[in-house]
Amino acid sequence: MKAKLEQIRKSAIDALERVADRDTLFNLEKKFLGRKAELAQVMKDIKSLSDAEKPLVGKLINDIKRDISAIVEKKRTDFSAQSAPGRSGWDKTLPGLKPALGHIHPITRFLEKIEDIFVRMGYEVVEGPEAETQAYNFDLLNFPKDHPARDVQDTFFLDQKGDDGLPMVLRTQTSPVQIRAMEIRKPPVRLLVPGRVFRNEATDAGHETTFYQCEGLVIDQGIRVTDLIGTLDLFIKRLFGQDVKIRVRPHFYPFTEPSMDIDMSCLLCQGGGCPFCKKSGWIETLGSGMVHPNVLKNMGVDPKVYSGFAFGLGIDRLMMLYYGVNDIRLSYSGDLRFIEQF
Ligand SMILES: [Zn+2]
Repeated sequence: MKAKLEQIRKSAIDALERVADRDTLFNLEKKFLGRKAELAQVMKDIKSLSDAEKPLVGKLINDIKRDISAIVEKKRTDFSAQSAPGRSGWDKTLPGLKPALGHIHPITRFLEKIEDIFVRMGYEVVEGPEAETQAYNFDLLNFPKDHPARDVQDTFFLDQKGDDGLPMVLRTQTSPVQIRAMEIRKPPVRLLVPGRVFRNEATDAGHETTFYQCEGLVIDQGIRVTDLIGTLDLFIKRLFGQDVKIRVRPHFYPFTEPSMDIDMSCLLCQGGGCPFCKKSGWIETLGSGMVHPNVLKNMGVDPKVYSGFAFGLGIDRLMMLYYGVNDIRLSYSGDLRFIEQF
């Protein structure tokens, strides 16, 4: 029996030493150590041996099993090491690949700051379509028929006709959304309308055909100019800091009366005058005014009972000021060297 066992040991070791792949190793392991292996058969014959022989043969069988197991383990370790890069190409010890994640565009990020300030003052953020009818883009906003904004040189007209039978336009401001929002609301309202608008003009460092605006509309009983100025002063200070001052200048807009522009003190020279503010010490920031009674009527609001104010600001230029960007065209260039700085 001992001779037979030694024979098994020798043939097992010979076979295992020549193994060149995992599958063969797996099969040989089963053949020499499995339930139907020769060793297992010999184990069954032990009971026919004398009491003196039983422990000796038992020990020999265990030694052979241990030797075979050791070779199997060594071979298995060798195969694992060989499957490192250059072989099967996967090495679990290497650091993983970081997925390339995008992030929010600086204009969106800046808009979210602005929305956050107004939402905390009780405003509701509303959005609307970018292609508008002339009725919504001009007529309902009190633009006279001969207003220059209606000229093809200033506005993009589309081939598609709107409900009013006229060619639709790419909206020149976000104000049409205010009209649309008021069709399904009753005062009191506090609305903030951010969005993309379009102008047909030559592009340079300060002008783009596409840009972002944010408008606001407040309608309630007893709304006064002081509410307008106080709100926008608070907004600018929350955005740019407590030291920023504002000034109010009269202006003209067809949809507000009276209308005014609001400037803020230049952040670069603190009002002293520098090239950025054209030596004036002030930066044009917001257009605003008390909502024109005709516009209120177009919104289905009685101007004898309610009054309101509206304001609008160009997001792109303020974003440039906020982050220190010197060319408006960078925002839409899709240049990752620019975008990834934010
Ligand atoms: Zn300045």
